[in-house]
Amino acid sequence: MEPLRNKTRVIRVGDVYIGGDNPIVVQSMTNTKTEDIQSTVAQIRRLEEAGCEVVRCAIPNVESAKAIREIKKQIRIPLVGDIHFDYRLAIAAIENGADKIRINPGNIGSNEKIKAVIEKAKEYDIPIRVGVNSGSLEKHILEKYGKVTAEGIVESAMEKVRLMEELDFTNLAVSVKSSEVLMCIEAHERIAKACDYPLHVGITEAGTVYSGNIKSSVGIGIILNQGIGNTIRVSLTGDPVEEIKTGIMILKALGLRKGGIEVISCPTCGRTEIDLIKLANEVETLVANLPLDIKVAVMGCVVNGPGEGREADIGIAGGKGEGVIIKKGKVIRKVKEEELLEALRCELLNWES
Ligand code: SF4
Repeated sequence: MEPLRNKTRVIRVGDVYIGGDNPIVVQSMTNTKTEDIQSTVAQIRRLEEAGCEVVRCAIPNVESAKAIREIKKQIRIPLVGDIHFDYRLAIAAIENGADKIRINPGNIGSNEKIKAVIEKAKEYDIPIRVGVNSGSLEKHILEKYGKVTAEGIVESAMEKVRLMEELDFTNLAVSVKSSEVLMCIEAHERIAKACDYPLHVGITEAGTVYSGNIKSSVGIGIILNQGIGNTIRVSLTGDPVEEIKTGIMILKALGLRKGGIEVISCPTCGRTEIDLIKLANEVETLVANLPLDIKVAVMGCVVNGPGEGREADIGIAGGKGEGVIIKKGKVIRKVKEEELLEALRCELLNWES
């Protein structure tokens, strides 16, 4: 059963609404130099294609802030400017069309500087995400708790939330990230009780595509399954497109996102007669953008495949030099091994439910 969502306020990022009863939004962050407009746009387009709904770009200098204007003309999804230290870059990002900015008020400086950013965000009617990472906790918090703790992360985040509120700004999203999965989960449980702003969820510095996917799936999955979280970012040391694929898969696995083809495939065993690993990967690529809401099975043998793939709407199972097409557990025809993928493609393109 789909978990009940925590009640939060709603913010608007471009034409995307985050929080409340809105669907959970999948985000990523570009890893190009933002001022390299051509490369950044190309990467964002790949992200859009993969299903990214909001993209964040680093804004480390004036050129990157200015680039936002041109990038935005060439992309479809809202763009978030990620700013550290220099409040003037935050202002420049907003003036150049950022749909939201992410700052850590702790490293922006005096209240006057934060105020200047807030005034600009108000003028352009855009939200601000205040984010705290376990790696950037202030000295007084570390001294109070003796080390990095979930409590400390949340206390630091709430200090920033209160500061923004005192400066009369509540168009906020909040993030509390840690690279330790259990600490990150606890921090989210605590922050969800402490405030009702939409939460941006992720495990920070999660690692490479392999370990990062696992840590993110466990961490984000547990957090979301408690009804906490309104937008997610899977952080990977790798191609950002992988972040989107994983994010969408996490939502689907939790029943928080419907639609699209789900591929189930057997783990292979001594009965496998074909190159199933290659075939399953090809099928996953084949179905990625097909607008069907069905289950496809890819099974290694005709002995158990049809039975084990019974819950799928359609499937293929390999035999010796040939395979079968299965519908709802029943074999409908035999096909040569090298034609299996094409036969499945034809079935899917002519699919009538
Ligand atoms: Fe083994 Fe066949 Fe089951 Fe795949 S479907 S795990 S090949 S028995």
